[in-house]
Amino acid sequence: MSLKNKYDAIVIGAGPAGSSFAFHASRSGLRVLLVEKQREIGHTILCAEGVSSEFLKLIKDKGHSRNFVARYVYGGILTYNGKKIIEITLNEPGGAILERKIFDRYLAELAIKAGSDILINTKFIKAEREKGLVKVYLRSHGEDIVLSAPLLIGADGPASSVSKSLGLFTPYDKEDDYFTVQVYAYCDEIKDNYLYFGIGDAIAPNGYAWIFPKGGGFANVGVGIPGTRDGLDTYLKNFLKKHCSTYKILGETYGVVPTKFHKRKIYDNNVLILGDAARLADPLTGGGIANAYISGIAASEVASFAKKMGDYSRKALRLYEKKLKKWIFSDYMITLCAKIFYNALEKKELESFMYSLKDAIGHIEITPPLKPMSMLFRILRKDPAFLFKFGKKGLYAAKECLREFI
Ligand SMILES: Cc1cc2nc3c(=O)[nH]c(=O)nc-3n(C[C@H](O)[C@H](O)[C@H](O)COP(=O)(O)OP(=O)(O)OC[C@H]3O[C@@H](n4cnc5c(N)ncnc54)[C@H](O)[C@@H]3O)c2cc1C
Repeated sequence: MSLKNKYDAIVIGAGPAGSSFAFHASRSGLRVLLVEKQREIGHTILCAEGVSSEFLKLIKDKGHSRNFVARYVYGGILTYNGKKIIEITLNEPGGAILERKIFDRYLAELAIKAGSDILINTKFIKAEREKGLVKVYLRSHGEDIVLSAPLLIGADGPASSVSKSLGLFTPYDKEDDYFTVQVYAYCDEIKDNYLYFGIGDAIAPNGYAWIFPKGGGFANVGVGIPGTRDGLDTYLKNFLKKHCSTYKILGETYGVVPTKFHKRKIYDNNVLILGDAARLADPLTGGGIANAYISGIAASEVASFAKKMGDYSRKALRLYEKKLKKWIFSDYMITLCAKIFYNALEKKELESFMYSLKDAIGHIEITPPLKPMSMLFRILRKDPAFLFKFGKKGLYAAKECLREFI
């Protein structure tokens, strides 16, 4: 068979979404080509690298054994406009900070071992449908090549040229993008196993700032706010100053975290869109590694089925959205509603909300996972009027949230 029609699926992007797809699809017998524009997998990564213990469990269950964890997380501190609100100490790890460079390369290695082919330094240019296949135009090591396959996987991150090329890119609200700046910094005043979050209008209006430690006083320190890049550098400087009397910066990146996948087209004839390209990041935290990885699994199952049935139509590929929603939708809805509630609070209400948290929780030691309901009961025990104070906004948020999904 010629190279031109050798593959069941061509995957654009070797991040967690694309490599997860390539690995799971190759393992189930599909012929997969993984295409990455960078010269090296994981060369440029825009990420604070935090993942939950649930995700660590998932990838352990999948048999991923390499050590790509920089630090396990044993607690965290939340500040509001620079004032400490709560501190949570965990008696076992509640998550981890990864080494994404190692993690991403490892996932790609697994895909290769499972049988995927790979082209690095190869950029997706455009695609067009032709006689039940997708013609994929690539620029590889400076040369143009054209390949065909029945399925194209768009795992090419927030700007997704694949979505644009095949008509899946729909306009979205600017507020659905978190704009971020992040530095890799040295600050020896931070605890190595703690996460630090900062919120409040002086720190990150409607967003948050973070310190995710990598060990030895080094950390990813960043700020993300919805809808605009304005002021990002100043917010970051202020946040750094609050936590570190002196710091040194070793690297700096600007990025975007796209959210609200439920309003996007993520499948069509001969194409599936995964990970950040499908705007799968969590609407509240901006975390997207886990959902990217999961979208790779869901898409690989649907691709195997499509191959078996010889049907790559929109109707057949719709199963991808169904599978994905089954897996991630309940958590996604909860965090989206929480975000709507948070954004709905006026400045004074937010302040009062934060001080209710401070009074009720302060500094606690718990066994993970952190359960929102048990936190709520803890608050209600301390402050029975809590629901009256915020119930109206809660109802408003619930209504708005419902409106999002109908
Ligand atoms: C500052 C910041 C902090 C973050 N922190 C966290 C965090 O702590 N935890 C978390 O879970 N998530 C975090 N995220 C989100 C997380 O990084 C993403 O959700 C995740 O990387 C998505 O994986 P992906 O595979 O979909 O996309 P990506 O990781 O973006 O991979 C896409 C790949 O496609 C390649 N590509 C793009 N265009 C083309 C093309 N035309 N041709 C060929 N290849 C192409 C890119 O080079 C890239 O390798 C953060 C994001 C930012 C910006």
